[in-house]
Amino acid sequence: MLRSGRYVLGGEVERFEEAFAAVCGTRFAVGVASGTDAITIALEALEIGPGDEVVTAANTCVPTIAGIEASGATAVLADVELATGTLDPGRLEEALTERTRAIVPVHLYGQCAELEPILALASRRGLAVVEDCAQAHGALYHGAPAGSFGAAGAFSFYPTKNLGALGDGGAVTTDDATLAERARLLRNYGERERFTHVLRGRNSRLDALQAAVLSAKLPFLEERNGRRRAIAARYDEALAGTDTQAPVEGEGRRHAYHLYVVRSPRRDELRARLAERRIETAVHYPLPVHHQPAYRDLAPTGRSLAASEALTAQIMSVPLHPSLSDEEAGYVAAALAESSR
Ligand SMILES: *Cc1c(COP(=O)(O)O)cnc(C)c1O
Repeated sequence: MLRSGRYVLGGEVERFEEAFAAVCGTRFAVGVASGTDAITIALEALEIGPGDEVVTAANTCVPTIAGIEASGATAVLADVELATGTLDPGRLEEALTERTRAIVPVHLYGQCAELEPILALASRRGLAVVEDCAQAHGALYHGAPAGSFGAAGAFSFYPTKNLGALGDGGAVTTDDATLAERARLLRNYGERERFTHVLRGRNSRLDALQAAVLSAKLPFLEERNGRRRAIAARYDEALAGTDTQAPVEGEGRRHAYHLYVVRSPRRDELRARLAERRIETAVHYPLPVHHQPAYRDLAPTGRSLAASEALTAQIMSVPLHPSLSDEEAGYVAAALAESSR
C-alpha cells in the first residue's frame, strides 16, 4: 500500500468496498471517513437537508444525532422498546409530521431494530429509512444482514466496533446505483471529474491504509461475532433466574453483541460489586440524548420518551469482546451470578 503511492481512496479502498458490500448483501458500499459522516452523506445523497425532519431513537449515542444534524436536517427523537433498547415501531407514528423525510433506526448494541413495521410505516408515508449500523456489522434480521434493508445503511469502523480500523472510517451501503454515485461524489467535494464539481460535497474519504486493515480483518468478522455470541450465551446462563435481566434477542433478530447490556433494578450496587472483583463495567448510555446539556431542545412536547429515560437508570454493559479467554469469560460469568440475586 505504501509503495502504491495512493493513500486516500484508490484501489485499496475499492477492493474493500466491494468485499464489504458482499458481506452486507448490498450492491454498493461507499467508504467514508466515519460512521457519523456515513449518516450525513446517506441523508444528503437522499436530498434530505435543511427544513426536513429525521426521526431517530432517544436512546442512542450522540453521533447518530450529530450525523443527522450535519446534513442540515432537524433530528426528532422517538421512544424505544424497553426490552431491546431499539426504536419502538408502535411509538414512531406520533413523532412524524408533514416535514418528516426519513427514519434512522439504530441497531443498538448489535441488534437490529424491529425493522418490518418500521419499513412498512416508512413506505406508507413515503419516508426514507437510513439504518444506523455502527454497532451491528454482521447482525441479521430474519436472515438478511443489517444495512441491506433501508435506502441506505451507515457503518462505522471506529476501532472498538465489531469491524474496526486502526483509526476512523465508515461506509454507506445501498442497492441504489444513483444513491451510491451521489455518496461517492459527496465524500469528495462533489467532484465528478478533475475540477468539475457537480454537487456541494465535503471531504470525507476513507484512507487506503484503513481499507487495507479492514480488508484483512473482514474475513474474520463472522468468526469473531460467533465468539461474541458464545460468550453472551455463557453470561445469559449465569444470569438465568437472577434479578439481573440478560439482553433480550428479539424474534428473528440475530444479535452481533457489540455490547452485552443487562438491566438491573440495583444497577449501581451491581456495578460496585463487580468493580470490587476488578471487572470494569460501563453505561451505554448514561443519559438519553434530550438530557444531554447540548441537546435539551430536542425534548419533545406532548410526547413521552419514558422508556428511553427509564433504561438509562437500569442498564450496564459487561465486558464482552472476542479476545476474552474462556477463563476470563468464566470469571465474569461467575461474578455476575454471585453479584445478582
Ligand atoms: C460509533 C457510532 C456512531 C458514530 O460512528 P463514528 O465512526 O464514531 O463517527 C454512530 N452511531 C452509533 C450507534 C455508534 O455506535
